[in-house]
Amino acid sequence: MFFGACLFGTDRPSSCEDIPRANGSQERSHTSSRDDIDGLMNHPSQNSLVIHGGAGVLIEEDMSAEQRKTYVAALRNALLSGFGALRAGGTSLEATETAVRVLEDCPLFNAGKGAVFSRDGENVCEASIMDGRTHAAGAVTLLRTVKNPISLARVVKDEVPHVFIAATEAEAFAAKAGLDIVDPSYFYTEHRWKQHLGEFSTPDVLSKDQEGDDVPPSYWVDPYPRGTVGACAVDIRGDLAAATSTGGMNNKWSSRIGDTPMISCGTYAENKVAAVSGTGNGEFFIRYAVAHDIIARMKYGKVSLAEAADATIHDTMKNAGGDGGVVAVDAQGKVAMPYNTSGMFRGFIKDDGVPHVAIWDEWY
Ligand code: ASP
Repeated sequence: MFFGACLFGTDRPSSCEDIPRANGSQERSHTSSRDDIDGLMNHPSQNSLVIHGGAGVLIEEDMSAEQRKTYVAALRNALLSGFGALRAGGTSLEATETAVRVLEDCPLFNAGKGAVFSRDGENVCEASIMDGRTHAAGAVTLLRTVKNPISLARVVKDEVPHVFIAATEAEAFAAKAGLDIVDPSYFYTEHRWKQHLGEFSTPDVLSKDQEGDDVPPSYWVDPYPRGTVGACAVDIRGDLAAATSTGGMNNKWSSRIGDTPMISCGTYAENKVAAVSGTGNGEFFIRYAVAHDIIARMKYGKVSLAEAADATIHDTMKNAGGDGGVVAVDAQGKVAMPYNTSGMFRGFIKDDGVPHVAIWDEWY
């Protein structure tokens, strides 16, 4: 898997680097020991924000130091932007929406601007957000023109009598609500187009050829997810929220709906328990209701967030053959970020305002 090449090609990220910075701490690149990081993750915090930028087959050797730096900077910017909302007394919902928007605007990640292509060559986005205080939720899918699907999900949560809306009616509602509408060409990026053409895909599942269509052999569904984005937060009031956004799976059917916009599967939040956002092979996240499975283990089994998340990702999902990971935060501000793939773009920030970011084992 030519991970580095497929993500960078000639399509250099720009908007990720233009994001306003909340303070200078992201410039300080440092590596913490595993024990330090575990301690920090388990430390309670009144404000806590955790994000992911996707899990999957991430091969360390395929990524140059410069590329790694770019990812680290993008993740830090998302953390600092979301944390800015928390620090200003904002809600966990605001923090998660803000962090996810930053990642949606960054072409490095498979959401918004960096969305993958469907087998028909379209970018079809989806997202969801959940308020742990009220159990209110908004979910949107089959979007081709909404610049920031996560913001539409939030407006749906607040203003629509339904939880989950789709396609052209959802897009028309987004326009009416004053959200940014873009031409579908906005979502084009060269590295995703090459992925679509099969230059980087692993051709071992579901081919259009199998259906008898006369299509190039490059039209395979890439079974390895990478780059979906998500955020979970707890705020000073103890309110939890989760938000997730994606372009889905590379070369998916254009009508395919994944776990990301499905409440309980890719996204869930419940006050006094936890908030969870997932990334990975969505079919498995749907079948095993992954986000809610973690909440249920905590609620009924009285186990910690770390134990619950580990069991779901490393036992249930792994045994089922489902690749992926989650980021999660509990009501005390402790965070967990288990994944059963080779890597996961991830990070967290707590009351001290220092962002911690990792792709593999090393923390920055
Ligand atoms: N879960 C997403 C989906 O299946 C993909 C990912 O997380 O990368 O649509």
